[in-house]
Amino acid sequence: MSKVKDLQFPQLPYAFTALEPHIDALTMEIHYTRHHKAYFDNLAAATRDNEMAETDFLELLKNISKYPVAVRNNGGGHFNHELFWNVMSAQGGGKPTGELAAAIDKQFGSFEAMQEQFNNAAKTRFGSGWAWLSVKADGSLCVCSTPNQDNPLMDVADCQGTPILGLDVWEHAYYLKYQNKRPDYVSAFWNVINWEVVAENYSKAV
Ligand code: MN
Repeated sequence: MSKVKDLQFPQLPYAFTALEPHIDALTMEIHYTRHHKAYFDNLAAATRDNEMAETDFLELLKNISKYPVAVRNNGGGHFNHELFWNVMSAQGGGKPTGELAAAIDKQFGSFEAMQEQFNNAAKTRFGSGWAWLSVKADGSLCVCSTPNQDNPLMDVADCQGTPILGLDVWEHAYYLKYQNKRPDYVSAFWNVINWEVVAENYSKAV
């Protein structure tokens, strides 16, 4: 990863319309240009001209308990959204293959069993947060959720690991299309997951 001061606001890897009908274009536009951009800008503002600017971004997240809450919220917000955009695509859906598929079968028994755990994590996270598939320090997989803009990299998280797949369950991620029906949004997510990227994330993490 790069130093905090060298972070760039990433390009969205597809058009706002790309994930229709599962995630609507207006939600994508507002989510990327306003929500993610605000986390990015606020992280830059909170770290400008201090020692945090020179810190490796991943190291900052891993030691987040030492830093101000604005850095936790906005640093998490930036990391989580960049991961989220990258694990989706218009050609997404289906199931993983190769080593990731084997690791899922080994850990959860089947893809469907992992999917059920992930859905439950996403649906039962009270208020705002994220659901994750992560690689733990021992190389095994785990599913969990975190509140607000926390993630499993953070030393404050109940579930520690390297996230390889994440789902934003803040209302801003789905309310325009799904209103209060978070479970419908969670179900739709499986149609846009880019398993090739998740598999690359897995390879890097183990
Ligand atoms: Mn969001």
